[in-house]
Amino acid sequence: MDGTGIDLIVRERMKVVEGDITRLDVDAIVNAANSSLLGGGGVDGAIHRAAGPGLLAECRSLGGCPTGEARITGGHELPARHVIHTVGPIYDQHLPVEAARLLRSCYVESLRLAEEAGLETIAFPGISTGVYHYPKTEACAVAASAAAEWLAAHHLPRVVTFCCFSVADAALYRARLGIVD
Ligand code: ADP
Repeated sequence: MDGTGIDLIVRERMKVVEGDITRLDVDAIVNAANSSLLGGGGVDGAIHRAAGPGLLAECRSLGGCPTGEARITGGHELPARHVIHTVGPIYDQHLPVEAARLLRSCYVESLRLAEEAGLETIAFPGISTGVYHYPKTEACAVAASAAAEWLAAHHLPRVVTFCCFSVADAALYRARLGIVD
């Protein structure tokens, strides 16, 4: 344990990368979806464009997803084998403590689906930190603590990657996780 409060063995199973999540060769990428699961802007739009129309067709069969929950599909034309769709909270629609509970639930429910499917590697974008306006520092703290707690208690997924879309976001995660590189 160091100043981050994260066990070193757990931290070795967490990675921070900068770039486009649709390019990652992992067992699952997580989509910051909306409750319709029928596509949208931001990372959701990028994932559907890269995965091709088969993903939308599969999503239609799911009948949506409530905030804080997650659903799993195939990866279709993505390098990732699966997409885990989770619906983050719209920050202004909740009290901060409820927004944090819902955001944490997105991470935990996504990790639970990955474990149930026997997946070893998963990559998350910054759920709710785009058009849903969750403050980035607070969202990073929720993401890091939810993932660290999960990893401390579960063998799968083996590795959790935080895929950051900007240098500033990656710096935030590295600082939070105590990663120096
Ligand atoms: P939300 O509606 O949950 O806020 P957004 O897609 O608007 O979702 O944004 C979530 C986060 O995903 C933001 O931090 C944004 O910068 C990031 N993002 C957008 N496109 C990509 C991408 N292709 N790969 C990784 N992250 C992305």
